[in-house]
Amino acid sequence: MKALVFGSLNIDYVYRVPHFVRKGETLASRSFERFCGGKGLNQAIALSRAGMKTYMAGAVGPEGEFLTEELRRSGVDTGFVSRMPVPTGHAIIQNSPDGDNAILLYGGANRSIDERQAEAVLTAFEKGDLLLVQNEISALPEILRIARERGLSIALNPSPMELPAMRELLPYADFLILNRVEASQLLDAELSDADEVPDRLCRLWPEKKIVLTLGEEGAVYAEGTRRLRQAAFRVKAVDTTGAGDTFTGFFLASLFQSGDPAASLRMAAAAAAISVSRPGAAPAIPDREEVLAFLAGKSPCIK
Ligand code: ADP
Repeated sequence: MKALVFGSLNIDYVYRVPHFVRKGETLASRSFERFCGGKGLNQAIALSRAGMKTYMAGAVGPEGEFLTEELRRSGVDTGFVSRMPVPTGHAIIQNSPDGDNAILLYGGANRSIDERQAEAVLTAFEKGDLLLVQNEISALPEILRIARERGLSIALNPSPMELPAMRELLPYADFLILNRVEASQLLDAELSDADEVPDRLCRLWPEKKIVLTLGEEGAVYAEGTRRLRQAAFRVKAVDTTGAGDTFTGFFLASLFQSGDPAASLRMAAAAAAISVSRPGAAPAIPDREEVLAFLAGKSPCIK
């Protein structure tokens, strides 16, 4: 059984600035750093470090080669990442001294994916394999349609949420993994009662396996009338970027390995807690051994 992430590979260009650039202003940055990014890349790394045989499909431009190198270092097969004569997807991130950020995103090669590439990639996968997608690439309806025809299990992380596009994809998804903000957008309602959100999602999609993540309040697994709750582990949070990506990768890898959603929630919460305790997104994702060691030494805290 194999996992395929068909998703984004991004370069994050991070600038430390005294304030966000204003209209008409030219501003000198105090520092510059370059990181691997993209929800697809992060989730592929998480699946692989969680112990699942993982393939990444997507597209990069000429300057994006270090992204595939980073994936390979984490054990991900990058044979389905195509090289395009366009810029790699990237984000220009301004970090202000008070901890805020302002982000300019350019889809680049992530938006060059088409039905032809989808066909070519998905012929290598079959019934029993897992496809995981987010919402940062083009041709998602085609990818999901072909995956469904081939009998793959489909997991959708509708992030970033775009309503009409995600509603079109939802019928294909066997697993729906989303955070509180995305759930509110999907339900078109601001729900304060944490129990009401999974109930409403399950009423709409009783046949789907749904995971709702709730930041420091943990996560809920919902399927039909079944509910499983997992508290977040208490850690000193340094950088919560990529917590959801780490959670998603570890949850799915663990579920496909064990078939046990409760144990998989626990694995995922522990992995995500470790990831928020250190800086960065991809570099902060732990491996399976580290998560097992964490679980052996710590217990969950119910807030
Ligand atoms: P996203 O990153 O997509 O916004 P969440 O904020 O819901 O997703 O976080 C995903 C998971 O990461 C949570 O369910 C929780 O297990 C874990 N997590 C997030 N923030 C923290 C935190 N401050 N401390 C411990 N665990 C956290």
